[in-house]
Amino acid sequence: MQNIAYYNGKTAPIEEMMVPMNDRACYFGDGVYDATCVVNHVPMAFDDHIDRIYRSAKLIDIDIPMEKAEMKRVLQGLVDQVEGDVLFLYWQVTRGVGMRSHPYAGAGEKPSIWAFVRPSAMRDPFGAYRCITLEDTRFLHCNIKTINLLPAVMANQKADAAGCDEAIFHRGERVTECSHSNVHIIKDGVLKTAPCDNLILPGITRAHILAICGKLGIPVVEEPFTLTELMDADEVFFSSSSALTCRIREIDGKPVGMKDEKTFGAIRDAYQREMKAECGVE
Ligand code: PLP
Repeated sequence: MQNIAYYNGKTAPIEEMMVPMNDRACYFGDGVYDATCVVNHVPMAFDDHIDRIYRSAKLIDIDIPMEKAEMKRVLQGLVDQVEGDVLFLYWQVTRGVGMRSHPYAGAGEKPSIWAFVRPSAMRDPFGAYRCITLEDTRFLHCNIKTINLLPAVMANQKADAAGCDEAIFHRGERVTECSHSNVHIIKDGVLKTAPCDNLILPGITRAHILAICGKLGIPVVEEPFTLTELMDADEVFFSSSSALTCRIREIDGKPVGMKDEKTFGAIRDAYQREMKAECGVE
């Protein structure tokens, strides 16, 4: 198949899938999601993503009506039906179907499980990317991977319109993360990245990068950093499950980073090796 969608046990091509209007996703964005890249039909860091959607669901008081092992089995079953070496697997759990009403106690039936798989492409890991900065006007629950993504959509549209690849958010001077990735800097051989508080999503790629730094002996500082530090860094890069590690060469039209290929390259190469080993790529 070219793609597949799933909704509460029903499957169909994405373009044909119909969902109930009263699913609370439609009115409130009342749900959480996760997503990962699939290579050779192996979803990358699958267990980490499964664990995170259960954590996100718990944070908004949704009790997923499926065991983790069963969720993995269902999603793998979808992945196996779609052709292609590189795929994108997306899934979400919403509070369920019920007449529109803000309070949710007794509002929904049981939580709905949605998913789709479609072909994708990896970004060039050796590319160098361009970004814009934007004031972070999202709410204070950025640690929850909720399907409420309007500010991220608006920011990404601005980046796209400026011919850029990502929008880097900041709250005043403090850099938080990007519209759909985390952002990190390297200065004097030390990797600095924002701490996992309520202002960023705890990225799974971020966690893997920190583990790689540990193995490579690259010091890590998990502390807030500023726009000035961003522009002054030896290297700047963003990370996500679909982009992996993307080196940034320009921010708001000004050249940045690109001064410590040794440290950035060591992280990028180690992550590429990890991904290839996990997915059985020669
Ligand atoms: N931050 C935000 C806001 C995101 O939407 C994402 C990914 O979707 C990330 C960070 C990166 O997370 P991960 O590495 O788990 O894909």
